[in-house]
Amino acid sequence: MTVGRENLLSINGLRLRQGERILLVEDSVALSTLLTQRLEEETGAIVTRCGSLTQARRNIAEGTFLLALTGLNLPDAPDGEILDLLLEASIPTIVFTATFDADTRERCTRKEIVDYIVKDGAKTVDKVVHTVGRILANSAHKILVVDDARSARSELVEILSRQNFHVLEARSGRQALEILTADKTIDLVITDHHMADMDGYELTRRIRQTRNSEQLRIIGISSSSDRLLSASFLKAGASDFIYRPFVHEELKCRIDNNVETLAQLNHLRQLAEQDYLTSLANRRHFFATMRQRGRAAMQGSIALLDIDHFKTVNDTYGHDAGDAVLQAISTAMADMCATAKHMPARIGGEEFAIYLNQLDAFQAHSFCEELRRRIGELVIETGSRPISVTLSIGVVEFEPDETFENQLNAADQLLYLAKANGRNRVYSTLTIPEAINPIASASG
Ligand code: GH3
Ligand code: MG
Ligand code: MG
Repeated sequence: MTVGRENLLSINGLRLRQGERILLVEDSVALSTLLTQRLEEETGAIVTRCGSLTQARRNIAEGTFLLALTGLNLPDAPDGEILDLLLEASIPTIVFTATFDADTRERCTRKEIVDYIVKDGAKTVDKVVHTVGRILANSAHKILVVDDARSARSELVEILSRQNFHVLEARSGRQALEILTADKTIDLVITDHHMADMDGYELTRRIRQTRNSEQLRIIGISSSSDRLLSASFLKAGASDFIYRPFVHEELKCRIDNNVETLAQLNHLRQLAEQDYLTSLANRRHFFATMRQRGRAAMQGSIALLDIDHFKTVNDTYGHDAGDAVLQAISTAMADMCATAKHMPARIGGEEFAIYLNQLDAFQAHSFCEELRRRIGELVIETGSRPISVTLSIGVVEFEPDETFENQLNAADQLLYLAKANGRNRVYSTLTIPEAINPIASASG
């Protein structure tokens, strides 16, 4: 099924776009074969392999590469000459090295590479694939660098851009707050402390009034000699703190850790909120969201939907075909909800609910009619043969003085009436006479 729409909670893919290339320069055939296989499988990249400087030169002349992976010493270039070639060609480069010492490190950091990996026996391939995946995933993260000194800001911007992050800059605390208000997708702030209009500590404190550390990481950075500054930043809600002058690797590792923490939290949240089969919101997440909004914020309608004779689908075509039907219906539902802030959810086996944001009784009724019509017209391809199903729907507009439970109950009674009166129909307060209006009887 299609994922990635606003209403389908999806996990960020780390895959490259089709056809993007990585250049792998490694003279050990065994390592090169293993790496190529894993990288192509796990990142979707096309890997071009070569084992010497001469060959690399030819490859670079012939194609463009998103990223290069290379050892330092090659048979025809024993002294790291390959780095000059790759950097001259402006290809972001990851180096792997067998030995790590001050000299190797100096060569790597001086040459402005993306990262270096110390070979670690059987773990080497894992480490390389993980690093490539991380660099690719970085492009999904926005980092705001806040510093009133241009040179300090530029230095950070350069380091972060090389890591493939999306980087924004602010010259002051006030400007940072403006940018953060306008762009809710920023997920990391790196802020200096001493700034004229507002110091980093105060900026951190203010950001934390509206955004918690599960949404936004904050790293303080300062050349202050006050050893208590880090403590005060962390107490104000910063996720981390770094003293200048910093060691490059330490800065990168701390940023990576914070970004990884965010990604893990996101992943866990999705697992907890998402229905595993359909990727719609699950029952718990739907009800928690509705209750959180509270009565005052409820403007719109709620629809309860149930597939007609679904047991027969399972009995006739098998459970897997039934699953395919549930997925197809969910995709159609998510499609119809994608443009508005409606919230569809799978609240039971073949039962769904949709919060219809801002739709009054008339609009909600016609939305449900359209959905019922579209689902009825779906021809769902399954392993055995194409299947079509219908939906029964009960829908009510929220009344400001009613509890959520009462309104849900009313929608459920309307759904029951839709079933009892022949299925494949929408029942709302508009379609039935006042005498059996379940809202009136639920509250009455
Ligand atoms: P009605 O028109 O009255 O709603 O009849 P129905 O057959 O749709 O309703 P019933 O509640 O009798 O049956 C629901 C069926 O949904 C029974 C159950 O096996 C099936 N079901 C529930 N969850 C899943 C699921 O995750 N996958 C599949 N394939 N079937 C499921
Ligand atoms: Mg049912
Ligand atoms: Mg049913």
